[in-house]
Amino acid sequence: MRMAGIVPESVVDGPGVRFVVFVQGCPHHCTGCHNPETWDPQGGKEMTVKEVLKMLRKKVKLHHIKGLTLSGGEPFLQAEELVQLAKEARKMGLDVVTYTGYTLEQLQTLDLPGVKELLAVTDVLVDGPFIQELRDISLAFRGSKNQRVINLAATREQGQVILIA
Ligand code: SF4
Repeated sequence: MRMAGIVPESVVDGPGVRFVVFVQGCPHHCTGCHNPETWDPQGGKEMTVKEVLKMLRKKVKLHHIKGLTLSGGEPFLQAEELVQLAKEARKMGLDVVTYTGYTLEQLQTLDLPGVKELLAVTDVLVDGPFIQELRDISLAFRGSKNQRVINLAATREQGQVILIA
């Protein structure tokens, strides 16, 4: 996996204390992006899923980690590897929050390996690009008003987009 970094304990990337994986590489290039250093797909560093899992297991044993957050960069460009990570995290009892610059509707038609599987193992999807004109610092877990916090489990069950916020 091409990685921008890991924040082992965060309270701003989803509900509760979370282990956050920032992947490297983003094609969206949103104006006002807070992480432009994650755009270059050749930047960051290589890490195996096994290496990230080792760090996650250690953290989960020692701390009150509630979930795994996949952020970036664009997680859905490295979906196959992140599916493996998310599945193992779920076995540890963690929930999975995934951030993306794509909308859910775009992802549902995106023909890239692992995209459907990553959607299937994600509990909460924060979707859409950051739009500077719609920036709102009062929003929880997202930067602009167009971005949605989607309950994917309920969305799958009910066949329509169910928002958490
Ligand atoms: S999708 Fe996220 S990481 Fe990518 S450019 Fe937009 S704000 Fe930055």
